[in-house]
Amino acid sequence: MTDATLVLVLNSGSSSVKYQLIDMADGSRPAAGLVERIGEPSFPADHAAAIGLIGAELREKGLGLDSPRIAAIGHRVVHGGRYFSRPALITDRVLDEVRRLVPLAPLHNPANITGIEITRALRPDLPQVAVFDTAFHATIPESAARYAIDTELADEYAIRRYGFHGTSHQYVSRHTAELLGRSPESVNVIVLHLGNGASASAVAGGVCVETSMGLTPLEGLVMGTRSGDLDPAVLLHLQRVAGMSVEEVDVLLNRRSGLKGLCGDNDMREVTRRMAEGDQRATLAFDVYIHRLRKYVGAYTAVLGRVDAIAFTAGVGENSAAVRAAAMANLDALGVELDPALNAVRSAEARLVSTESSRIAVAVVPTDEELEIAEQTFAVIRRTDE
Ligand code: ADP
Repeated sequence: MTDATLVLVLNSGSSSVKYQLIDMADGSRPAAGLVERIGEPSFPADHAAAIGLIGAELREKGLGLDSPRIAAIGHRVVHGGRYFSRPALITDRVLDEVRRLVPLAPLHNPANITGIEITRALRPDLPQVAVFDTAFHATIPESAARYAIDTELADEYAIRRYGFHGTSHQYVSRHTAELLGRSPESVNVIVLHLGNGASASAVAGGVCVETSMGLTPLEGLVMGTRSGDLDPAVLLHLQRVAGMSVEEVDVLLNRRSGLKGLCGDNDMREVTRRMAEGDQRATLAFDVYIHRLRKYVGAYTAVLGRVDAIAFTAGVGENSAAVRAAAMANLDALGVELDPALNAVRSAEARLVSTESSRIAVAVVPTDEELEIAEQTFAVIRRTDE
């Protein structure tokens, strides 16, 4: 081992690249940023230009992409299909597999691949690791992963429930156990990742057994702009009766639904502000959002049998006391008692917001996907060093 202890975490999206440089020796983050609006006039022309800008920002801090202190690059990759159930050291073969999965994530995987190709060309000597959004959910049993459709057809087209936000669910479930002072193996947790995208997971003894997103990130909870669950016949109906095309339905469900579709605003801050002014549509949107969330909490309680903690995370989960209060209201029969005073406290720390007598602990655990990616990346390269 050298004293290279920095991991560069890259999240290449279709029009942006996010980065963080994390020092695994002490947890410090010497650099972080976001290059946006790739391809728009007067912004970076393409991903290569965006990563060039990131290189320049890093160089200003004396830690250019060529720095010997960088041990590895960790890439967030959205879809790992059934092939990847753990992070993978990137080789030509791994990259080919990620390319093969493009039909399952046509918007996301191509941008992830482009990011990897560019950094591999810039630093062919540096180990690079792919950390998949789906990997943590690879353990969900067939009974939860299968859609009840023709098995041969489903297998031919790889149609099953994969789940997403896995890096966050993994990080938060582990840190919830830590907050309780217990080992992850001894704790059953329901994780509610409520950001712009939103998903729930049931984690039994550190192993994910159910999650709300499916083949794509559209299934499950009500989100900022995505519908979550709906009768699949709604799509057929819209195509037959409203004459909508496949693309139009895609845009409707992914970008014009959820809170946005219900009330015109996708930001929970705006929704609760309007509610306080007595706005009916915003109130309905909030109610639909909460109803869905509570349904999942009930369902996952049955899936797990015994629940030790419910953990809220991501933008809404970490910041909206109103969402937490409504989602956890009147659950005494389940053993959940929120402490209103603790719930109202704003903090960036992991914390409990339930009463001492609550049988199920309710926690707010800020997620840190970048740190989780860096840790997994570092673990992979240390294994390969041995
Ligand atoms: P992403 O899914 O884009 O990573 P985040 O986890 O950052 O999203 O969550 C973004 C969302 O968090 C915003 O759209 C907003 O609805 C919500 N949010 C952020 N801050 C607050 C707050 N103080 N109160 C309520 N909601 C908030």
